[in-house]
Amino acid sequence: MLTVEKIQAAKIKLAPYIYQTPVVRLHGLDDLLNCNVSIKAENMQKTNSFKLRGALNKLLSMPLEQLQHGVVAASSGNHGKGVAFAAKLLNIPATIVLPETAPSIKVDGIRALGANVVQCKLAERHLITEALSLEHGYAIIHPYDDYDIMAGQGTVAIEILEQLPQVNAIVVPIGGGGLISGVATAIKALAPHVKIIGAEPAVVSRYSESIKSGERLLLKEQKSLADALLTLQPGERNFPIVQKIVDDIVRVDEASIESGMKTLLEAGKILAEPSSAIGIGAALQGHLPISKNDDVCFLISGGNVGLNQLQHL
Ligand SMILES: *Cc1c(COP(=O)(O)O)cnc(C)c1O
Repeated sequence: MLTVEKIQAAKIKLAPYIYQTPVVRLHGLDDLLNCNVSIKAENMQKTNSFKLRGALNKLLSMPLEQLQHGVVAASSGNHGKGVAFAAKLLNIPATIVLPETAPSIKVDGIRALGANVVQCKLAERHLITEALSLEHGYAIIHPYDDYDIMAGQGTVAIEILEQLPQVNAIVVPIGGGGLISGVATAIKALAPHVKIIGAEPAVVSRYSESIKSGERLLLKEQKSLADALLTLQPGERNFPIVQKIVDDIVRVDEASIESGMKTLLEAGKILAEPSSAIGIGAALQGHLPISKNDDVCFLISGGNVGLNQLQHL
């Protein structure tokens, strides 16, 4: 089970290893987004995404004998970078399974941390991960469907409450649902009046559609600028949490994701990867259930975007 106590314990465990990233007030975006805009800058976290929190918490929670042969993880890139960092810290080998479409900045970043990279079709990542685990005895580190991973990700929400006590709403990008499971669990225990709003790409809106139908739907593979949010089905452990305690989920179209990224860069001077700018995109679309005087914190989940990708914009 995921509890706030687990998230609080993770925060203490992670403190020596991670940055407390800044919450930055972006007055210049208030009129455009129609609220008091703040961001939580996890693009400036070590490895440049929040995924380090979950990966480190998981590896630091595992008995050493489970880790002796090393670890393997399926990832769109950022979880892999987090696992590679954690494995290096513990001095164990890591293999990261990435889709062939992963941006080169993510692939290179993982290799630079000393991990092995295997690339395959997006839909095959979990099968290949299991095969590698069987063959070599590697422990599988799941990107979101794991309570220790969710607890690590949830630590970011406790920081937001400490850094922005007046916050009314937090906007969280959704992929498999690990981040929002942790954030919502912490917030609903510590500050239940704070609204938790998820944002997912309209082209793979697995959470909106699954919540509507009451079961975890498996969607067809799609292309999106948000390369970290392409998971095709809500996580088994994540879905009931999101279904029960997340206040709203909005679907964001591709043009708005792109505008979100440009707005953050041009007006906010923040370099965010598309997946993490999706919340700003949702606000630009005008679909967020917020009002003018609300203090809204947009969780900027990652910054792993290369100059080659920027050029396309
Ligand atoms: C993984 C990721 C997400 C989504 O997190 P989930 O736990 O899969 O929902 C959002 N933004 C970035 C940058 C990510 O790497």
